[in-house]
Amino acid sequence: MTDTTSFLGQSTTTQGPIGSQPRALLPSGTRLLPPCHQTVTRGRYPKDGMAKILIVEDEQDLQQVLEYNLKQAGHEVVATKLGQEGIRLAREQKPDLVLLDLMLPDSSGIEVCRALKENAGTKAIPVLMVTARGEEIDRVVGFEIGADDYVTKPFSVRELLLRIQAVLRRGKPEPEGTDVLVEFGRLRIDRGAHRVWVDEQEIELTALEFKLLVTLYDRRNRVQTRSALLDDVWGIQADITTRTVDTHVKRLREKLEAARDYVETVRGVGYRFVGSPDEATT
Ligand code: CA
Repeated sequence: MTDTTSFLGQSTTTQGPIGSQPRALLPSGTRLLPPCHQTVTRGRYPKDGMAKILIVEDEQDLQQVLEYNLKQAGHEVVATKLGQEGIRLAREQKPDLVLLDLMLPDSSGIEVCRALKENAGTKAIPVLMVTARGEEIDRVVGFEIGADDYVTKPFSVRELLLRIQAVLRRGKPEPEGTDVLVEFGRLRIDRGAHRVWVDEQEIELTALEFKLLVTLYDRRNRVQTRSALLDDVWGIQADITTRTVDTHVKRLREKLEAARDYVETVRGVGYRFVGSPDEATT
């Protein structure tokens, strides 16, 4: 087997990123991981983050590479090429996460995801969608389909593992006492004191902006829809529209100045805190 642990930027083989067509070089414009950032929040990626992962992917090479790397990362893997089989396995095996290809021979990943999210026994299982560029990402991660996040082909093993860790972490409360002080690149956040610094310069955020920043940070590398942010930052009873989210994110980014690019707009969908915070641990 080829060295499947390679990833973008440090490839030691001729193998491209996962999901790429058999081209020797990446096409220009291929999305690479954002620049790495130093962080002190290593505890966020626990070594015991082992999970049972269901792979629904019909490309055999890709399925094998995914299975190999997920097992290497300590996860248990169940795999199928078919969407309907994926639904059955999800109900039977109760995986911690489903890695779901959008284009399957017997049904689309969208149908599979919808079926999983509509069934009481499987609706809580996070779904990470694997899409090609230009596919309907906004529908996929929006309320309509309900996927929890997506990766775009071609992607690296490393990017995929980060996304999986991030999705698995969703909903799990932070243990008390960890991450009170976060350092992420140019950004420093003191959760306890509700204070934020950029390049050692303290910036003044409103309570809402602070909550917005921390919420985005805690879910970094994952797209947050405007609706999800409204629910989690403002509360569902708030009498405001998704446009309010845009306004506040805009103001937050202005205040962040040099650190503004950590908060990325995902066109038509929402926002994402970008970065690879565990780079420092490798
Ligand atoms: Ca496919």
